[in-house]
Amino acid sequence: MRPNPIKATVDFEADGIQHGYLKVPYSGDDSAWGAVMIPMTVIKRGEGPTALLTGANHGDEYEGPLALWALSHTLKDSDLSGRVIMVPAMNYPAFQAAKRTSWIDGGNMNRVFPGDPEGNITQIIADYFSRTLLPMADVVVDIHSGGKTLEFVPFAAAHVLDDKAQQARCVAASRAFNAPYTLMLLEPDAPHLYDTAAENQGKVFVSTELGGGGSASAKTARIAKRGITNVLKHAGILSGELETADSLSLDTMNPECFLTSEHSGLVEMCHDLGATVRRGDVMARIYDIERTGGAPVEYQARVDGIFMGRHFPGLIKPGDFLAVVAERSA
Ligand code: CA
Repeated sequence: MRPNPIKATVDFEADGIQHGYLKVPYSGDDSAWGAVMIPMTVIKRGEGPTALLTGANHGDEYEGPLALWALSHTLKDSDLSGRVIMVPAMNYPAFQAAKRTSWIDGGNMNRVFPGDPEGNITQIIADYFSRTLLPMADVVVDIHSGGKTLEFVPFAAAHVLDDKAQQARCVAASRAFNAPYTLMLLEPDAPHLYDTAAENQGKVFVSTELGGGGSASAKTARIAKRGITNVLKHAGILSGELETADSLSLDTMNPECFLTSEHSGLVEMCHDLGATVRRGDVMARIYDIERTGGAPVEYQARVDGIFMGRHFPGLIKPGDFLAVVAERSA
């Protein structure tokens, strides 16, 4: 396969702190001989494991960028045994535009893996992660949250994997992240996820959903910072005790957990995230906005559990994700 055109301005093998860029060749109306400059930091001291930390895989999700921009400023090489590679805004053109997808090519980073060195900018970035950054890593943390159209209770997640030993390592790392909720996920649409690219290379992979709505709260930013530091300690890259609190284990293995809207209109959520709900509870009402006087359509929970995620905007249409109720697991 053709070499990837991205050049890093840092030396991944050098000890010390380096702040630089992944430089992606780009020729557009705004810059004929230009480049997309993706900010990144690599910090290394001696031998030891490598952590690859990313945010803004989707550009409108902010806990990852907040935690990693902060860590790039505070983490000292003298604190480490090993290496930390941080890319706070993985899909930088999407992040610049405050959008889920790239303003340059419309690419959804988490739907194009393993990427293509001869593809569009989004595919080129994905290929660089697949063939250059992931092979360097032992543990990989990708911080997501809901973005503009979704909102979640804060959770860290591991996936169901064929390799049960690898799955156990991923579960242990997701528990170490210690978000208020820890989730087991079976991805319905896995082939083109970054997650899958990392897992296929045998990496310990932790994903999260830490909030949503197209912004971050003080609480979710703190959870992201604490979680990343905890995973670095868990991996042996930082020393010290993990900072832990209670975390409730959930899963969404049952397809009945998920509700999808079949109506358009004004949506009223009948519970707030984190609520304990029972099968049959009304989760949401949707009002027809074309006329007044009609009864709303009601959507009911189909499992007992915790209200874990919701559609965020006030209006909804058929096909939009409406709500997810996660079941408690052991
Ligand atoms: Ca996301």
